[in-house]
Amino acid sequence: MSIETILQFQTADIKLFKLENELKNSEEFKKIALIQKNLHEYAETLKKFEGEAAEILASYDRISDSVIQAEKSVKELIGAVDEMNAETEEGSLGEYEFYLKKLEKANEVLGNNEKEIAKTKKRIEEIVLTSTKLLRSIFDYTERKKNATVEFDKLRNEKKGDADNLMKEIARLKGDLPQGVLEAYTVIRNEKRLPAFVKLVNKNQCQGCGMDVPSETLTKLKTAGDFTECPNCKRFLYHAE
Ligand SMILES: [Zn+2]
Repeated sequence: MSIETILQFQTADIKLFKLENELKNSEEFKKIALIQKNLHEYAETLKKFEGEAAEILASYDRISDSVIQAEKSVKELIGAVDEMNAETEEGSLGEYEFYLKKLEKANEVLGNNEKEIAKTKKRIEEIVLTSTKLLRSIFDYTERKKNATVEFDKLRNEKKGDADNLMKEIARLKGDLPQGVLEAYTVIRNEKRLPAFVKLVNKNQCQGCGMDVPSETLTKLKTAGDFTECPNCKRFLYHAE
């Protein structure tokens, strides 16, 4: 495998890398990312509503319990009044007062309920308003996503011819590259540190990082086309003609 083949591979791959980045950094791609972020936010709001629905149900249970309690107190009082009418004994008056107090208490609880009901009602109204907006946004999302995807696909198709040619060339040249070299190249590419193959310049400097190369590295770069790892930046350092 000659250094010329490697450099040809690298040139094609850097062009492809730039194409990929152009797509990733394009306004069209950013638009899709934003729309997806919006959808995530809608889902978060819905999750919050789910939690609130549980709270509202619990509050409903509390209210209905106290209504049952008040109803019971009223029945007890009516029973006591009936009994008092039948007996007309003085002792019943105390019992009547006892039930009247109980009813007063129940009334107080019902009064508090009214406040809670008003609060819950207001919150439900707010939730309905927000969910209406949310539903509209989710409905719009589909349309926005569709439009953004069309725009992005258009851009991608424009680049497709170039990308396909580059990929074909890369695949062809890749076959000549030793596995170890290819793996190390991929690591450097993923770290966005291309070019991975850099020249030895000024007799002892790495063109990638600018550092002076130790003599034991230089011994591996005697002839044009020789290459070895730069001990500093870990790129491939090669001896150019
Ligand atoms: Zn270096």
